[in-house]
Amino acid sequence: MTDGRALAREFLEQQRLLGGSSLILGNVDAVPSADGRMGGSADREGTNPSAEPPIRPSADLPSPGVSFEPPARDFFIADPLSQAADLAAIATLIAACEKCRLCEGRSRTVPGEGAATARLMVVGEGPGRVEDETGRPFVGPAGELLTKILAAIELPRQQVYICNIVKCRPPENRQPQYDEIAACIPFLYRQIELVKPAVILAMGNTAAQSLLGTKQSLGALRNRVHRFRGIPVIVTYHPAALLRNPNWKRPTWDDVRIARRLLDG
Ligand code: URA
Repeated sequence: MTDGRALAREFLEQQRLLGGSSLILGNVDAVPSADGRMGGSADREGTNPSAEPPIRPSADLPSPGVSFEPPARDFFIADPLSQAADLAAIATLIAACEKCRLCEGRSRTVPGEGAATARLMVVGEGPGRVEDETGRPFVGPAGELLTKILAAIELPRQQVYICNIVKCRPPENRQPQYDEIAACIPFLYRQIELVKPAVILAMGNTAAQSLLGTKQSLGALRNRVHRFRGIPVIVTYHPAALLRNPNWKRPTWDDVRIARRLLDG
């Protein structure tokens, strides 16, 4: 199979994993080109034998975006969070946290889960109902879609570290408020220090804006390589938004492929 056909097959398989409707190719040459037109027959007839493969990922990365460097905590101050030596120690601190009103309504805290040495860290907004009941991030319907998105870039969920900006469920799944984020985000900063991911995927407005210390819209933040303390950050739609608007699956696919390219270095 030529590179172009292999890439087309891979693309269609990933689209299927992301929930796109199936597409049956009677003729493997008849794959759509980047502009959506069918391009196989002209090549077969020899009119353009040196045509580029119809679907080809660009090797280029998007241009740089925001670079955010929140001040580091002082390790020598007797601050339990700075001194939390591993993710379990952070989870213990989160379980006891009463720094904001979200502790009042929670059933369980949801610190995060996954590989302690993950190369990709996924950051969402905050736990929903199922997450609050189980203490695990992204296990409800949005989580199922996230697992598919990760599979589409060949990352089994267990190889990734998955967490949220706030670690307790906001009432009625409302957006976390500014003071709640401010109270909770030091836990995330410490998780990032310990995991040291090669790439962070920020899903949704709250994750992107909080992690990058900006008010820019998701639309403005997408398709850039931002930095958090030097670590590349890719911004994309939240899986819950994709469940509401499947048209955003394609751009999400573009975004996660940027993350994949960064991981592949
Ligand atoms: N939405 C999030 O942002 N995080 C979760 O853990 C679940 C749903």
